[in-house]
Amino acid sequence: MEITEIEVDGYEKVVRCRDQKSGLHALIAVHDTTLGPALGGMRMLPYTSEDEALFDVLRLSKGMTHKSAVAETGLGGGKSVIIGDPKALKSPALFKAMGRFVNSLEGQYITAEDMNIGIPDLEVVRTETKWVTGLSRESGSSGNPSPYTAKGCLVGLRAVMEEAFGKPDFKGKTFLVQGVGAVGGRLAVLLKNEGAKIVICDINEEKVAQLKKEHGFESVPDKGHVDVACDVYVPCARGAGLNDDTIPRLKCKAIGGAANNQLLDPAKHGRELVQRGIVYAPDFVINAGGIINVSVELLPGGYDEAASYRKIDRIYDNLKKVFEIAKKERIPTGEAAVRLAEERVAAGKKAKARK
Ligand code: NAD
Repeated sequence: MEITEIEVDGYEKVVRCRDQKSGLHALIAVHDTTLGPALGGMRMLPYTSEDEALFDVLRLSKGMTHKSAVAETGLGGGKSVIIGDPKALKSPALFKAMGRFVNSLEGQYITAEDMNIGIPDLEVVRTETKWVTGLSRESGSSGNPSPYTAKGCLVGLRAVMEEAFGKPDFKGKTFLVQGVGAVGGRLAVLLKNEGAKIVICDINEEKVAQLKKEHGFESVPDKGHVDVACDVYVPCARGAGLNDDTIPRLKCKAIGGAANNQLLDPAKHGRELVQRGIVYAPDFVINAGGIINVSVELLPGGYDEAASYRKIDRIYDNLKKVFEIAKKERIPTGEAAVRLAEERVAAGKKAKARK
């Protein structure tokens, strides 16, 4: 196994691993550990080149620094990528080698699930390193993060309601939820329990039919759903759904949902939402419930669900702060959230320097 370092400005450590025996070709980026060890998921994709994988791991690890800084998880930002087709390349030997690669950073980077990586893969990684989170509750880990992400979105949506409608109430307001998977499906139920009217859409029609039957939701076809009038649009499917095509068609007062990277072009599309008078909850602030839950697993006493919920409640305060900065500085909320994250990292650096 050969591990080599790649020098990248603004990143604490970027490393490459090549292991001929298992076929592993992977990268780990540690963006910043000022506020704690760098935690971020492991993803596996058939990148066409190492440069493409490097671009992804750098972008994602920096995003994790921002997400954790705003959520005050006590963690820094990192990410890892395995280059290769998951259908063809996955093997126990590959994940054992990946475990040794993660272990070589001695806890500076802590891994978790991400695209195309499941719990069974991480269990193999765990045989070679203890720096793995998000495994099953039975093994002492924090388990499936989705219910916590859904709860965090609900908490965050209260701040969104105050900002857009002047009151934190959900009652009688219409929420259009796109993507009723692990997070969106739960969130729709939580909102309904608060008196909201729920309209759902998903490319998976079976799921839609089942939820309609169980909870009496209304539904619209996924195609063209952005043309449907609602009070709050709740994207919980894929990224990049807010773009040049969809933003001019939106008929909502606010947006807040779990999907990652909702704005195709964060700067341009963030400005366009402001121009249209739509309140936007930055995705990495409102969807932090999952990472908060994982971070609790790393506390000295081990995982504690009540502590996790207490921390998740702070998503409300964090969004209030973001909205305040956006108004004061006359900037889009996404930019305000990055500013809040960078201020917290800078404060952490100052505090460390004083010690
Ligand atoms: P999921 O796979 O369980 O659910 C996604 C749902 O979206 C599925 O029902 C799927 O059919 C639907 N979908 C996919 N593409 C679609 C499309 N083009 N149009 C309409 N529906 C589509 O995923 P999840 O865990 O619920 O996560 C949802 C989103 O939230 C993702 O973007 C994910 O990255 C993000 N997120 C999830 C968590 C978590 O804890 N699970 C945490 C943070 C962010």
